Amino acid sequence: MHHWQTGGDEMEFVEAIQKAGVVGAGGAGFPTHIKQNAAAEYLIINAAECEPLIETDKYLCRTFADRIVETVEKMAAHLKAGHRVIALKAKYKQEIKALKEAIDRQKAGVEIFEMGTYYPAGDEQIMVEQVTGRVVPERGLPLNVGCVVENVGTVLAIADALEDKPVTDKYLSVTGAVKEPVMCLAPLGTPIEDVLRQAELLVKDYAVILGGPMMGKLKKDREAVREAVVTKTTGNLLVLPSDHYLMKRGTMSVERMMRQAASACIQCRACTDLCPRQLIGHNVEPHRVMRNIWRQESVTDAAKFERIFGSAANCSSCGTCEMFSCPMGLSPRKMNDYAKALLRERGIQPEKNQEPVKSTALGHRRIPTERLIARLDLTPYVSHGLPKLYEVTPKEVFVPLSQHIGKPAVPVAAVGDEVKRGDLIAEAAEGLSANIHTGFEGVVKEITPQGIRIGRREA
Ligand code: SF4
Ligand code: SF4
Repeated sequence: MHHWQTGGDEMEFVEAIQKAGVVGAGGAGFPTHIKQNAAAEYLIINAAECEPLIETDKYLCRTFADRIVETVEKMAAHLKAGHRVIALKAKYKQEIKALKEAIDRQKAGVEIFEMGTYYPAGDEQIMVEQVTGRVVPERGLPLNVGCVVENVGTVLAIADALEDKPVTDKYLSVTGAVKEPVMCLAPLGTPIEDVLRQAELLVKDYAVILGGPMMGKLKKDREAVREAVVTKTTGNLLVLPSDHYLMKRGTMSVERMMRQAASACIQCRACTDLCPRQLIGHNVEPHRVMRNIWRQESVTDAAKFERIFGSAANCSSCGTCEMFSCPMGLSPRKMNDYAKALLRERGIQPEKNQEPVKSTALGHRRIPTERLIARLDLTPYVSHGLPKLYEVTPKEVFVPLSQHIGKPAVPVAAVGDEVKRGDLIAEAAEGLSANIHTGFEGVVKEITPQGIRIGRREA
């Protein structure tokens, strides 16, 4: 097997990433080999920790600064990117110091871009605008304006891939109602209950959000918590009392939200005026969706439907409108999500504005993270300590076949097979997909349409 080196064959770079099963570690899990199969002016590394109460990006920057900088240079050489920028919040002093020292040591041409503490600083389109002044087209990609944005965790996965090491484990933080936040390193497929055991939980009756409080996935009941496992995109477990405000908000039915929209929306437009995507010039008008959603069934004309609800297609589901802006506590984001699904059902694809013009109010309408935290009733859970790392050793793992955007991977291991760390257990399907390897050594016990269960060898 060969190792990729700077100046090596370009395809080899992409192939190494593809082979290792690297997917975006910070977002929805877009297969990285496709994103890296490009040339760009800017390579922007996202270390802004978009959502409150997540520790992972910061931990990685403090711990692996040299490896990050070194890999950013290799990625930039591959992308032919003249600008290489690591973007993180200015208040991450220690992390900035560690990265700057690494840059100096390596005499690397990497810049640090310091961002304000606002939400959603880590939204890649907001980041592109901040770093370059350019605006990504509606439903477009950073590449449309010459940028490739990768999360800092993805950079480290690429570093491994270039040394022939596949993605087998994930770093993630455990925060919220815990004595001290902790960092964990867990094999893919580790039950989140095993991860939670590394932290001292302060509540008995708890629920968990996979990810951050704004966009994370809610696991409210015991069964949902028991079934959840660590995947390539799990960056944080936020533990909260099961009667916390966020749990109540997260479990409301669509019907109820719709009734509330019809009866309580005062059409103040705060949802629209403070929408981060609307501020960079995209057509997003949640107030219009809120005003009309109750009568969606009666709008049978496609053009009219698009006029009223089409802007929902440009919503990033960041949650600013419903978790911060709306004075009535309504759910414009969820209603936008609902409208998006209706657009899909009716086969309506609203036109995309290729040259959005950002608002002059952009700079004054940012949501300070501290105020957001207070609004979300999370202030008691803010911690300033540096979390310690624990390695999680589960008894068994259940490795999902779909940990990425695109088609699920196809199992190549069979029940009864002995597997060791780093073995390929499921191969990328044709088209958009990604390979999956195991970080757990043992015997394949079960294969379902959802994933592969691996347990310990019998003694
Ligand atoms: S969730 Fe709300 S604030 Fe965020 S992009 Fe969508 S409409 Fe805008
Ligand atoms: S902010 Fe709330 S009340 Fe105001 S228009 Fe939007 S949904 Fe309606």
